[in-house]
Amino acid sequence: DVLTIEIESVNVEALEKLEAEGVKVIPKPSALRIIRNKINQKAFYYQNEIPTPEYKVVENRKALEKELDWLPAVNKLGEGGYDGKGVQVLQTENDLSLGFDAPGILEKMVDIHQEIAVMVAINSKGEHVVYPPVEMVFNQQLNLLDYQICPARINDNNKWKIEAIAIKLVKALNSPGLFAIELFIDKKGNIFVNETAPRVHNSGHHTIEAHICSQYDMLWRILLNYPLGSGEKVLSSALINLIGEAGHSGPAHYNGIEDLLRMDQVYVHIYGKKETRPGRKMGHITLTGNDAMELMHRAQKVKGMIKVESAG
Ligand code: ADP
Repeated sequence: DVLTIEIESVNVEALEKLEAEGVKVIPKPSALRIIRNKINQKAFYYQNEIPTPEYKVVENRKALEKELDWLPAVNKLGEGGYDGKGVQVLQTENDLSLGFDAPGILEKMVDIHQEIAVMVAINSKGEHVVYPPVEMVFNQQLNLLDYQICPARINDNNKWKIEAIAIKLVKALNSPGLFAIELFIDKKGNIFVNETAPRVHNSGHHTIEAHICSQYDMLWRILLNYPLGSGEKVLSSALINLIGEAGHSGPAHYNGIEDLLRMDQVYVHIYGKKETRPGRKMGHITLTGNDAMELMHRAQKVKGMIKVESAG
C-alpha cells in the first residue's frame, strides 16, 4: 500500500511511475530527485536560502584544474557516494589527481568546530517533530567518527537555529518522510547544512533505546499517516559504529562481544553481514546514561573492548 526506501540511490523513475499509477511513495520521488544528486541538493539549498558551504559544479577531473584558487576544497561525487566514499579533500594542486572524474561539486572547506545531525519527521498532514540534535565526536588523529552523543553539546541559541533551519529545509522538500540533516558549526559559530538523508539514518539509531519514539516507530507512523510520536529523549546516549578492523577480510568474528553483553546499558546491534572488510560498517552499539561526560568516558572504554575481525 505504501512504499518507502532505505537508501536514496534507487530507481526514482520507477518510483515516479508507481506514484503516477496511484501508489503512495514516502518520501516523494520529487524529494528523492533533489537529494539523490549532490548537485541538485546544493542548488535546492541555495534556492531556498538554506545556509550551506559555497560550491561550484564540476563536470570531471579536468575541470578541477581550473579551480585552483578554490583549494583547499572538498570534491564530492554528484551521485553514488556514501559513508565518505564520494568525498575527497583536495588540499593543493598535487591532490587534483585524487578528484573524481565524474560530475560533482567542489565545496569550500569549512573550519569545523562541531558536526551535528538532526532528524525531522513530517507526516502527510504537515505535522512535524524534531528530534534533539546529536553531535559527532571525531578522532582528530585518524579523522574517523569516534562516537556520537545525544544531546549535542550546543547552546540553546544554536539549538534553536538548527531546528529552524531543519524545519525550513524539510518544508521546502514538500514531502512527508523522516529526514536526517547533517550540519557543521564552524569555528566562528556559523551554521551550514552539509547534507540531507531522506530516510532512517545512522545518526538516529540511538532513538531505539534512548527516546520515547524510535526513528523506526516514527517512520511507521508517517507511512500510515498516524499521529507522530514524541522524539524526546528518555536518557542521554552515545552511539559507536562497529567498523571492520584494518587488515581483516572474511567471515566476521566479534572479538570481545561477550564482555560487552555483561555490561548494563550497552546495546549491541549486529547487522548480520557475513563478511568483514576494513572500514565496513558491521553494526553499532548504543550506550545509555544520564550524564554526557560519563557516557563519553564509557564510549571510549567500550570502543576498546570490541573488534570486528576475520575468524581464524
Ligand atoms: P558522506 O555522505 O559520504 O558521509 P559527507 O558529505 O557527510 O559524506 O562528508 C563526509 C565528511 O567529510 C564530513 O562528515 C566532514 O567531516 C567532511 N566534510 C564534508 N564536507 C566538508 C567541507 N565542506 N569542509 C570540511 N569538511 C567537510
